[in-house]
Amino acid sequence: MYQSFVSTALDSVWDDVPNGGSVFEVSTQCPACFEWVEIFIDQGDSGRMVQDCDVCCRPMDVLVRWTEDGEPQIDVRSANG
Ligand SMILES: [Zn+2]
Repeated sequence: MYQSFVSTALDSVWDDVPNGGSVFEVSTQCPACFEWVEIFIDQGDSGRMVQDCDVCCRPMDVLVRWTEDGEPQIDVRSANG
């Protein structure tokens, strides 16, 4: 089960990354330590990806979706179950 640690803020967008896409910075709450961390989502990313928490270094299982406005939404769970 993915918990609803849905992203709340898109802090910044960079448009001039080398692959020509955009990178989105999304704030989310770590499912393991409950600290707020930023995850970087490339425009081409979708589906599941694993990111390590910046605070506790435990892996987060991130599910990436895209809104009709082209903004990423993420659900996060602990990769350890
Ligand atoms: Zn953490």
